[in-house]
Amino acid sequence: MAYHLLERNREGGRRLATTLIDAMDHIGHCEKCRTLSEQDLCPICAHPGRDESTLCIVESPSDVNAVEQATGFKGLYFVLMGHLSPLDGIGPEDIGLDNLKDRLKKEEIKEIILATNPTVEGEATAHFIAQLAQSLNITATRIAYGVPLGGELDYVDSETLSRAFLGKREM
Ligand SMILES: [Zn+2]
Repeated sequence: MAYHLLERNREGGRRLATTLIDAMDHIGHCEKCRTLSEQDLCPICAHPGRDESTLCIVESPSDVNAVEQATGFKGLYFVLMGHLSPLDGIGPEDIGLDNLKDRLKKEEIKEIILATNPTVEGEATAHFIAQLAQSLNITATRIAYGVPLGGELDYVDSETLSRAFLGKREM
């Protein structure tokens, strides 16, 4: 990209550089859900119409956007900014679980939805948080990963299909 801008669009490159510097200087973390935010509270946490009894837990700010766009979820979020990874020295405090525990104790949260990635680390993180929630008598649910809409079972890999079965929810 740097070569392209140098060869063809130095003005655009300058604008991009200014925008990036501005973002680096002004974008911090929401003090409630930890997502990237220009304000102390992100627009979702600050919105009075959100359902405060449900908390969706995701690994990254882009996951918040994905859930917002793909689902009708109206609750609040908690963004881990990563996942548990003991081999890399990433423990519960590094992904904000002490903050999460405070929220679960202080707020009227009835259910947490674990929407971490379907990787080994994501599953382990979801399991750890589910135990934390259950110790505080809060329901923990895991989103189901599954078969794409319009897809045929034949074309879905067996791991996905097996997870879709394991993750089935009462309807
Ligand atoms: Zn927030």
